Amino acid sequence: MIFVPFTGVDHHKKCITFGAGLIANESVESYQWLLQCFVQTYPKAPSLVLTDQDPAMLQAVESVFKNSSHRLCMWHIMKKLPAKFPGDFLQSTDFRARLHKLVWNVFISPTTFEKRWIQLITEFKLATHVWLRDMYQMRHRWIPAYFRDIQMCCLMKTTSRCESSNSIFKVNSSPGNTLVQFLFCFDTSIDRQRYNQRLLEHKSYTTKIPLRTPLLIEKHALEVYTQEIFLEVQKEIQKGMVGSFITNVESNADGLEVFTVHHADKKTIINNSFTVTVDIANKKASCSCRGFTRIGYLCRHVFAVYRLRNVQEIPDEYE
Ligand SMILES: [Zn+2]
Repeated sequence: MIFVPFTGVDHHKKCITFGAGLIANESVESYQWLLQCFVQTYPKAPSLVLTDQDPAMLQAVESVFKNSSHRLCMWHIMKKLPAKFPGDFLQSTDFRARLHKLVWNVFISPTTFEKRWIQLITEFKLATHVWLRDMYQMRHRWIPAYFRDIQMCCLMKTTSRCESSNSIFKVNSSPGNTLVQFLFCFDTSIDRQRYNQRLLEHKSYTTKIPLRTPLLIEKHALEVYTQEIFLEVQKEIQKGMVGSFITNVESNADGLEVFTVHHADKKTIINNSFTVTVDIANKKASCSCRGFTRIGYLCRHVFAVYRLRNVQEIPDEYE
């Protein structure tokens, strides 16, 4: 039988199993049945579903999760690259590095992605390469640029999390097990997962993490986030204070403040420009880097503006 776990990411950035099923074969009907069972259990379908390129799964997900976005695992696609280019083409050119840089870029828009892809393919005279052409045709299924409007789209780009949770189930079970033994092993794994989550929960409330800035918003972040997420937010608050520069402020037609924020990285002093739009009355902010949509917490550019406007708490909707 085939074991199919449903894996997600929790507020400690750890894998969490929402459910699992056993199916007799990998047919469209079997997957459909399993997904329908999932839908009956959970009141809300996932906004984003990530799978490998299995054609039966593809069909089943589309027919059951009608309003969910379906994304294919990028790692599974990109690992096929060497097999698609016989000879020493990949070794003798920088095509591979440049393709990787392009496809994994989470900052660009679909239009920019398409423009750069065509430039790259033209430069290396690969317009007739069948696999690349197929991958380009299904670009909306795996390239991050096409998922940028989906909440927390960057938490999962590959099925590696799912595979690591599968391997935990495998460690606790063996191929000779009966169904009952297997289910006992499964329950043990789930109990461990829940226990680990409780430990992290406890750690989040009891461990003191030193603050790195004098800003009150950092203190507030420590109160509202789990430890794992706070450490990420803390980095953004710090970088909003140290490496980000506001170079322009103006008002738009709706009376909102529009800031131009640059941030520096290790290589260049100023290399990136982002637009942060703020409604100071209710502290709502949006940034052109789309950090909050991608990862679920505010970016350094918004924190730079909050600092200037003396916003001392993270607004409820961004917690
Ligand atoms: Zn930003």
